[in-house]
Amino acid sequence: MKHEAKCKICGKVLVLTIADDYPTGRDPLKLVPMATCNPCFDLHERRVKIETQIKKFCHILHVLAEKDQLTETEGKAVRTATEAVAMLAGKYSVWCGDALRRPATGQGVKFLADALARYPERWWFHLADFEASVNRSGLESPEHQAAESEYHRECREDR
Ligand SMILES: [Zn+2]
Repeated sequence: MKHEAKCKICGKVLVLTIADDYPTGRDPLKLVPMATCNPCFDLHERRVKIETQIKKFCHILHVLAEKDQLTETEGKAVRTATEAVAMLAGKYSVWCGDALRRPATGQGVKFLADALARYPERWWFHLADFEASVNRSGLESPEHQAAESEYHRECREDR
């Protein structure tokens, strides 16, 4: 059974194929509002992965920042978490570039990494702030417009 749906993120029209052996007693049309196109789904997955990691390392930094004295192991953990957060800030910047179709620049990444390391308990705020600043920056890049049409070509082939 095929059913038309819209991607809940970008609004593009999709055709859902619902398996003929979909368990009886469950309404397959409940799937319709949950549909996402492949590029949106991939982007969402990437974001969840990066955020989960950032949250984990920021939690370590936050907990250890409250201690007066650190053991050698804890000191090491702080250094590892700080490096991890800097690397993840870079990944998040690339993600923002892809998701918002803006050129991903190194600008602001260092600032984000510093903010995450200094005020780790507010990691979600720093990410939202960074995303908003990318959103305000410049116009859509030609590379991302090209990537977009490529995505749509792949989508059509999926059907
Ligand atoms: Zn979509």
